[in-house]
Amino acid sequence: MHTVIPAPVPPSIPVAGRAERFPVRRIFCIGRNYADHAREMGASVDKANPMFFTKPADAIVTDGEDVPYPSATQDLHHEVEMVVALGAGGSDLSVEEAGKLVWGYGVGLDLTRRDLQAQAKAKGAPWDVAKGFDHSAPVSALVPAREATVSADTRIALEVNGEVRQRATLREMVLDVPEILSALSRLFELKAGDIVYTGTPAGVAALIRGDRFRATLEGIATLEGRVA
Ligand code: MN
Repeated sequence: MHTVIPAPVPPSIPVAGRAERFPVRRIFCIGRNYADHAREMGASVDKANPMFFTKPADAIVTDGEDVPYPSATQDLHHEVEMVVALGAGGSDLSVEEAGKLVWGYGVGLDLTRRDLQAQAKAKGAPWDVAKGFDHSAPVSALVPAREATVSADTRIALEVNGEVRQRATLREMVLDVPEILSALSRLFELKAGDIVYTGTPAGVAALIRGDRFRATLEGIATLEGRVA
């Protein structure tokens, strides 16, 4: 294809243990998917009406890369989340069908300009500037689902400068992965290459320049980086 300007390089994520990468089409995120986090934000959980938002695919930051401290905020927050990567898609999928879309697992940070999010909430304005900014989606290398044992007992955790900030088991999720994907598929046609941030437990807090973070999906994936 001949393009009038140089075509942007499609974002992609390393796959653990192999040379091939996972190409990213879209990034979907669910909000308020752990009751204790909804509570700390002064919100309530509505299992029948999950709350979704998106980030641009090129917000991806891969393992070991620095995250530049973003512009226009004094309150950058971490939210550690399990990330699922889709190997197939579809619309209006049942929970059972939706569970079969998962190609792989990782762990990521849904970085948030918390001050801009508070302003948006107060005005009833969209969350894009709070959630979808450049470098707002650090994510680990992905592990293929057939090589990963993920259960309700699997833990996600985040350490900042060696101190535990967030820790939970996946049992605490309000919607599990198949339920999230089924609900998303009723709003968007999902496709291979989509990745989904599955919500954060309590303990969200500020990151400052120089902080080193280490996120884990226990026994499966690790993400390390630094705020520069
Ligand atoms: Mn989040």
